[in-house]
Amino acid sequence: MKVALVTGSTSGIGLGIAQALAAEGTAIILNGFGDTEPARQALASSGVRVGYHGADLSKSEDITAMMAYATSEFGGVDILVNNAGIQHVAPIEEFPVEKWDAVIALNLTAAFHTTRLVLPRMRANNWGRIVNIASAHGLVASAGKAAYVAAKHGLLGLTKVTALETARTGITCNAICPGWVLTPLVQRQVEARAAKEAISIEAAREALLLEKQPSGEFVTTEQLGATAAFLCSAAAAQVRGAAWTMDGGWTAQ
Ligand code: NAD
Repeated sequence: MKVALVTGSTSGIGLGIAQALAAEGTAIILNGFGDTEPARQALASSGVRVGYHGADLSKSEDITAMMAYATSEFGGVDILVNNAGIQHVAPIEEFPVEKWDAVIALNLTAAFHTTRLVLPRMRANNWGRIVNIASAHGLVASAGKAAYVAAKHGLLGLTKVTALETARTGITCNAICPGWVLTPLVQRQVEARAAKEAISIEAAREALLLEKQPSGEFVTTEQLGATAAFLCSAAAAQVRGAAWTMDGGWTAQ
């Protein structure tokens, strides 16, 4: 049985990906903050083994401990999904330095640490899958999101280097670049916009979508889970270093 470590999987996109991989019979190691019970319940029907490590991925020593847990409890990681991420919105000259550091640490540096720590076992097995959850903001920018945009552009760079360094092996590394997905991360931005513009939550949702996403529809966690599962399949063995957009046309403009 393959083992997948999905970072930031107690909520949102990470949980959707964990569900899709579990449905294919992959054991899941959850990670993230908050109550783990809803995620465990969401995975229960798949019948796969589920573990959890609460590493704070902005700390490299926590990542080392999480990998030691994966090795001792599950024999190691076959599929790594670097999904955990945070956002902070402010103009550059007002951007709190500690927020910059936190966004870069989680959205970019953590993926470097997890990747470097899973590769030796994947190389030994000559099989592995690394899926990095970047963003439309890995390809284009928006004002107010300096740290996030820089981190996601960096994550696409890391994806390409990892793909090249593993190109002659059975290990692949790819990125998915979602547009708006209605998760807690985006709900907070919707609420901030509703408060700032004195409009309803529904109107703020519409405005947020229509500004960037031509489809006018949110991407779903189920769609992202299915794409991650495809990238982990045999059919995707020669998909290497891709930045696969799922953004309702955002970056086609
Ligand atoms: P979310 O807030 O719903 O979930 C984030 C997860 O990361 C949670 O499980 C949280 O506990 C975990 N987390 C936060 N800080 C952590 C830390 N220091 N260490 C370990 N875990 C931590 O967010 P989401 O919308 O599901 O986002 C998941 C990923 O998708 C992020 O990388 C985000 O940038 C990316 N993304 C989201 C959207 C969107 O519209 N929601 C769009 C593009 C990309």
